[in-house]
Amino acid sequence: MTSPLYAGLELGGTKCICTLGTGPADVRDQRRLPTTTPAETLAALRAVLEEWGARHGRLAALGIASFGPLDLDPRSPTYGRVLASAKPGWLNVDLLGALAAGLDVPLGFDTDVNAAALAEGRWGAARGFDDYAYVTVGTGIGVGLVTGGRLVHGGSHTELGHVRVGRHPGDAWPGNCPYHGDCVEGLASGPALAARAGRPAAELGPGDPAWALAAHALGGLLHTLVFATAPRRILVGGGVATGRPAFLAAARRAMAASVAGFVDLDRLAGGSEALVAPPALGDQAGPLGAIALAADALAARSTAGAPRHARG
Ligand code: ADP
Ligand code: ZN
Repeated sequence: MTSPLYAGLELGGTKCICTLGTGPADVRDQRRLPTTTPAETLAALRAVLEEWGARHGRLAALGIASFGPLDLDPRSPTYGRVLASAKPGWLNVDLLGALAAGLDVPLGFDTDVNAAALAEGRWGAARGFDDYAYVTVGTGIGVGLVTGGRLVHGGSHTELGHVRVGRHPGDAWPGNCPYHGDCVEGLASGPALAARAGRPAAELGPGDPAWALAAHALGGLLHTLVFATAPRRILVGGGVATGRPAFLAAARRAMAASVAGFVDLDRLAGGSEALVAPPALGDQAGPLGAIALAADALAARSTAGAPRHARG
């Protein structure tokens, strides 16, 4: 028996990555396409799937990891659609209809951050843990949260990047989230840093006061995660956190100061540096997350009715 071969599609705000394989040690092909209009982008993704199908025979399962918010409720009439997009033209687009129609393979579908969390749990820095979070700090702030070995979905999916956090004393900048102003995303994402400082985040000097204020807000999110689910690891990636290790260190310190000894971080994770750490899969977390979604979809089909597990 040959082992199953999966296709994974990661749809991002600026690019999409198509992956064929079974895991990080077995990526057979990977394609990168720009995210443009829905019609153009989805047709190009579909063409890659068809090419792979023609070359490798029927794929064992398809995983789709996308920017959102998404309708993830299979009983909903709008299941598989983009619910509220900041990306022009993508609102209400039927991703599943366009990408999976007629393929007749098990289908995994989730947000890009949830998929990245799955991949870090299976192959990356959260391997072996049933309770962890994956946080991305980039154009937005997103969190994939795993508790008891399963991704937290709630009624659809959670949006912890939009929680409100305590403000830094004396800081009254209103934030730039179009919905909430000073939620975490409105205070600590790349565009929030840029809006506050008047220059792109990547160009801000290490001494710019915007960093400390954003780190305070991100520390507030980390505090919330610690108290909500007692994670063993909080992996923080995305362009801002990855590009600025000092910013991540400042957020970690802000978290520890805010927790104030109420939770023993040594017991929980072996200390704050182990608890709040960089992810291991880098820019492959999302693409491999789509492969993990595909593998889980196949496993769920072969054990009908089985819950979605975060780790294989
Ligand atoms: P996305 O969130 O769109 O998937 P990224 O995770 O790469 O993409 O994040 C993009 C954001 O990261 C942009 O706001 C950019 O300004 C910021 N960024 C990229 N590199 C750096 C850096 N070295 N320092 C600070 N910010 C950075
Ligand atoms: Zn918000």
